[in-house]
Amino acid sequence: MRDNPLARLPHVGDLTPVDLDVWHLRGAFSGFLAVAAAVVATAVTDQLDLSVVLVAVCGVVVGAVGSVIGHVVGLGRHQRSLMWWPAAALGTLVALSGPAPEATTLLVGIIVLSFLFVGLTQPTGTGLACVPVGIVIFLVISDLTVQEAVIRLPIAIVVWIVVSEVPARLLDELFDREQALREAAATDSLTGLLNRSDLDLHLGALTSDSAVMIVDLDHFKRYNDEHGHVQGDVALTTFAAVLAENRRSGDLVYRFGGEEFLVLLPLATPDDALAVARRMADALAATSIGLTFSGGIARAGRGAVERADAALYAAKRAGRDRVLVAEEPAVSSDG
Ligand code: GH3
Ligand code: MG
Ligand code: MG
Repeated sequence: MRDNPLARLPHVGDLTPVDLDVWHLRGAFSGFLAVAAAVVATAVTDQLDLSVVLVAVCGVVVGAVGSVIGHVVGLGRHQRSLMWWPAAALGTLVALSGPAPEATTLLVGIIVLSFLFVGLTQPTGTGLACVPVGIVIFLVISDLTVQEAVIRLPIAIVVWIVVSEVPARLLDELFDREQALREAAATDSLTGLLNRSDLDLHLGALTSDSAVMIVDLDHFKRYNDEHGHVQGDVALTTFAAVLAENRRSGDLVYRFGGEEFLVLLPLATPDDALAVARRMADALAATSIGLTFSGGIARAGRGAVERADAALYAAKRAGRDRVLVAEEPAVSSDG
């Protein structure tokens, strides 16, 4: 089955490839900071030796190699690949707890930072799911008595949940608000249909097996003059509702000008579009506003809007209340 090209447009809240690269860089930078902290901690506790430095460096290398392999096999383009960095940091902590147990006790803050990284880069709930891992690592690296563990572990768990879930939820909320703002900015206030703001983006995404249709109410100026502007607005919203209700699922309808609307029909031949137009005309005739419309249809591609517009004006000249299909664009012979 063919995919609707308009369904593949980016969604707000997705990390773009650029965002992903920035977060991988931040992960690598934090990895080097963690190695430096581990080396300092082992020096302070007199446990510094070559094996400790090697283990610490290995941790960063594992994170880096993991994300590079991820990039190569395509997984790196996924937000989840960022989990390599906290996983490598916590793995390093556990590995260090063998040669330098006292030093790793000083490094429990790395668990908190790992949860923060998860909260900033992963969907809500991921930090919560990582709590059991945190508990195991906390118990392995900090040499606690049972009484100490009973007091410190619950506090640590609350801190992890707060530092991972609060940013994740705030980011979700931010994305939701951004989405709502974008939707409001892209919506025509009178008809509730799309306005032209994203039209060029959507037109660019349409494949040539799609169609573009422009429709325009006939003699609408006269209707306004006879019934008044307020009733004219009612007629416009009625027409808009007719278009929205009779499009195919996946078609997008825009208010293109005053009483002119544009429909993008992904994966539709001009004949398919003509059938949709007929359905719309029948539905408009069944309303009480007593108006007709004319339309022009063109195959999607370069100049499609202009070709559909030319067909619309041909329909007007031919007597209105009809929809015409534009001539196919001439194929250039020098290409
Ligand atoms: P044709 O059949 O050739 O399209 O004739 P027409 O009268 O429909 O075309 P024309 O472009 O001359 O007039 C369009 C009218 O649409 C003029 C304008 O007052 C009206 N119009 C545009 N936007 C709105 C609106 O938001 N509300 C109302 N009530 N009328 C509007
Ligand atoms: Mg008109
Ligand atoms: Mg017009």
